[in-house]
Amino acid sequence: MGGHVPAGLAVEVNASTCRMRGTDHVPIRCAALTGKIGQSVACGIYEWRPSPCHEFEEGCHACHQARSRHGLPPLDAMTAREILRIPDI
Ligand code: SF4
Repeated sequence: MGGHVPAGLAVEVNASTCRMRGTDHVPIRCAALTGKIGQSVACGIYEWRPSPCHEFEEGCHACHQARSRHGLPPLDAMTAREILRIPDI
């Protein structure tokens, strides 16, 4: 699972798979997520997040689905740039 997730935050599923604590029950909330959903959240282990989290992009279909589960609208590219404070090129 990336090999750098701090101890206690990953749960072993089987010999080759782990998942983040808190993602195996409903409501789903990764134990590493800080803040209040719908207001301001962040990954508390961003530098050490597992590889699936590196592949998850703001505004992708999975992002829309995750936001929808919390009653939030899809994140458009402009909003994502504002939230992430990415300067215009
Ligand atoms: S990016 Fe999200 S799902 Fe991944 S470790 Fe951080 S808070 Fe958890």
